[in-house]
Amino acid sequence: MENTASRAKRFLIPTQPEGLSVDFVNTRYWRGTDTPTETFATIDDLLAWCRDCAGIPASMIESFRATHLPDEKTALASAIALREVLYRLYLSNAEGVEPDKKDLAVLREYLNSVAPRSELSRSGGRYEWGIDGQHVDLTCLLSPVLWSAVDLLGGTRLGKLKRCANDQCKWLFVDDSKNGSRRWCSMSSCGNRAKAHRHYHSKPG
Ligand SMILES: [Zn+2]
Repeated sequence: MENTASRAKRFLIPTQPEGLSVDFVNTRYWRGTDTPTETFATIDDLLAWCRDCAGIPASMIESFRATHLPDEKTALASAIALREVLYRLYLSNAEGVEPDKKDLAVLREYLNSVAPRSELSRSGGRYEWGIDGQHVDLTCLLSPVLWSAVDLLGGTRLGKLKRCANDQCKWLFVDDSKNGSRRWCSMSSCGNRAKAHRHYHSKPG
């Protein structure tokens, strides 16, 4: 039976690859340096990322702004805290150590209130999740990230999660290479830098 009252306001979010949560943790760059680059300096940066990278509809972001704008600092801090929890969970996996129980507990708390993926629809050649739009809070906004995190943590590609071998970069990536030998987040940045470094240091003195 359809409950028409609860269906009054719904949003459609395109399905996302499981790598979305890895993109999310990589919104902080150069983690191994004294001055990492932070993508989310303001709530607007976070909302723009949600729209452009996580497929959150503009109308849903407006709905969030309408009810949560006074708390924007808290919302931004919470989003960054969640991102760091995910980064540490992924990093511990990439390094083969047990995750911090506290981080796992925080993630579990978010998962308790994440929007359920129960309504799958198809439109314009793609799949979408229909979610309840009555109360768009931060967890709701970050639902695609949380879905992606669950898919990655509980999926077969978790063992392919790696940390870039550049100690200054520390980006995470899923190694989909055939022989699983990828070491760098990207050959064009960290890989070539390391090669140039090796070349320099191997020059005959
Ligand atoms: Zn890198």
